[in-house]
Amino acid sequence: MPVLDCSVNTCVHYADNCCCRREILVEGTHAHTDNETCCGNFDERREGCCENSVREANTQLSVGCEAINCVFNADRKCSAEHIGIAGPNAKMADQTMCASFQARG
Ligand code: SF4
Ligand code: SF4
Repeated sequence: MPVLDCSVNTCVHYADNCCCRREILVEGTHAHTDNETCCGNFDERREGCCENSVREANTQLSVGCEAINCVFNADRKCSAEHIGIAGPNAKMADQTMCASFQARG
């Protein structure tokens, strides 16, 4: 499972530059660049939401991935050792991306 950093500080699952989920799905079946991918589990944090819940960041996540043009995609799972999900101030999933996407040659 990849070590994951996330900079999407507007996501309800975000904590400490990381993600509180156990798994995510990166979307972008036809992606040829990193900004054509996105985190399918993004959900915008709203005022007052989740303030009472315990949030613990996971550093390693199971990462499913539909971006089959990426060199790290192995049977729709991410095989990279370390990935970064980016999109600070994102308001929609489309404004996030897997910054570690590398197109197959
Ligand atoms: S954008 Fe994706 S990786 Fe980042 S915190 Fe949200 S669900 Fe987790
Ligand atoms: S590095 Fe590639 S295979 Fe891994 S999640 Fe990002 S786009 Fe998908």
